[in-house]
Amino acid sequence: TWGRICETLEQAIGKSNFATWISPLKLHSVSQGVARFDVPTSFVGDWVSRNFGDQILRHLVRHGEPVQRLEFSVAAPRRAPVQPARPPEPVADMPGAPLDARFTFDSFVVGKPNELAHAAARRVAEGGAVSFNPLFLYGGVGLGKTHLMHAIAWDLHKKSPHLRVVYLSAEQFMYRFVQALRERDTMGFKELFRSVDVLMVDDVQFIAGKDSTQEEFFHTFNALVDQNKQIIISADRAPGEIKDLEERIKSRLQCGLVVDLHPTDYELRLGILQQKVDDYRQQYPDLVLADGVLEFLAHRIVTNVRVLEGALTRLFAFATLVGREITMDLTQDCLSDILRTSERKVTIEEIQRKVSEHYNIRLSDMIGPRRQRTLARPRQVAMYLSKHLTERSLPEIGRRFGGRDHTTVMHAVRKIDELRAADSQIEEDLRLLRRTLEG
Ligand code: ADP
Ligand code: MG
Repeated sequence: TWGRICETLEQAIGKSNFATWISPLKLHSVSQGVARFDVPTSFVGDWVSRNFGDQILRHLVRHGEPVQRLEFSVAAPRRAPVQPARPPEPVADMPGAPLDARFTFDSFVVGKPNELAHAAARRVAEGGAVSFNPLFLYGGVGLGKTHLMHAIAWDLHKKSPHLRVVYLSAEQFMYRFVQALRERDTMGFKELFRSVDVLMVDDVQFIAGKDSTQEEFFHTFNALVDQNKQIIISADRAPGEIKDLEERIKSRLQCGLVVDLHPTDYELRLGILQQKVDDYRQQYPDLVLADGVLEFLAHRIVTNVRVLEGALTRLFAFATLVGREITMDLTQDCLSDILRTSERKVTIEEIQRKVSEHYNIRLSDMIGPRRQRTLARPRQVAMYLSKHLTERSLPEIGRRFGGRDHTTVMHAVRKIDELRAADSQIEEDLRLLRRTLEG
C-alpha cells in the first residue's frame, strides 16, 4: 500500500519535495489507528508531519488503513559515515576549478526560501531541459549558490562522465582571459571555452565594469547557447540590477530561467543545523547537545548559512577539545563574538508596533498628533526604545514619529529615565518589551 501511496504523493507534491521529505520515511507499522514511521532526523519528522501529515493520513485512509494519527520516530543512524565523493577525472586541459566534495544535492537542505532554486537546479542536473538556458541563480552571500552549482556539476559528472562540465568563478574566467591575452593565445582561449558542454560561471557580478572580459564572456556565452549547450550563472543580485554590466549581456542572462535564493527562514536554518549535527554524530556518537541550543542558534544567527555553520563547527571543536557537553552557557560563551555581530536589527516600526500592542493603543495614535497621557506615555516609551535599540539619530526618530522635533525625542528619553527610577511598572514594561523585541 505504502508504495502506491508514494506514487500518488510524488505526483501531488513534486519530485524534489518527494525526494527530500517522503522517500526518507519508512512505514514501520500500523496498529490501533496509529501509523508509525521511521525518520532519519526529528526535523524531517516535524516537517513532514506539519506539511504533509494531512495528505499522508488521507491517502492511508483512502487505501483502507484505519489510521487516525501519524507518529514519527528517529531510526538508528541513517547513513554510513560521509564518504568524500571521488573527484571526477579531470578532463584534459579543462579550465575549471575543483568542486567541493561536500556540496552535493544530498547535503542541501530544502525549505521554502530555496525550493524553487533547488528544483531548477535539479532539473538542469537531469539534463535535457535546455529551455532553462541559461539558468541564472541569484541571492545574498552564503545562501547556497555555489553549493547548488557544485551539486549540479557532481550530478552531471556521475550520470555522464564524458560530458565536459566546467565550473569556475567569473574572476577565474577573467584571469584565464587576461593570461591568454598576455600569451597572445586568445584563439586557444576561445576554442577551449567553446568546446565545453556545460559552463558554469559563479559570481558573475565580478565582471561588471571589466569591459574586455565582458566582451569575451558575451561571445563565449552566445557561442555556447547557439550550440544548445547548458549555461549556469550565479550572481549576488538579479541580472537587471548588476551595475556596469552591458545591456546586451543583461538581456541575454534574463532570457532563460532566473531564480533567486531568498534569505533563510527559521525552519530552514534549523534543518541545516540538524543535518550538521546528524553528520557529526556519525563520527562522535556521544556528542551531548542541550535542548534548545539549535533553536537558539537558528533564531539568533539569521544572515548567512556560512556563519551559522561556522558557529556550530566552533561549538563542536570546543566541546570535543575540552570534553564537555554543549550547554546553553557554553554556547553563549563560545560564540559571544558571532552572536554580537549577528544581533537582530530592530526597526523603529517594530518598536512602534510592539509598544502599541503592549499598551493596547492604536498604531496610528502612536505616531498621530493626540497628546493625552494614555497615548503620550507609550509614545515616549517607544521613542526611548528606538533611541536605545536602533542606531537612528534623534532627528530621524522624531521624523518617524509623525514628524516630531528631535527635542521632543530627547525629552521623552529623559522622562523615561526619570520614571524608571521611581516607577517599577515602567521598568517591568521596558524589560518585557526589550525581550520581545530582541528575541
Ligand atoms: P553562496 O555561494 O550563495 O555565497 P555557498 O553555496 O557558498 O553560498 O554556501 C555557504 C555555506 O552554506 C556552504 O557551506 C553551504 O554548504 C552552506 N549552505 C547554504 N545553503 C545550504 C542548504 N540549504 N543546505 C545545506 N547547506 C547549505
Ligand atoms: Mg558562492
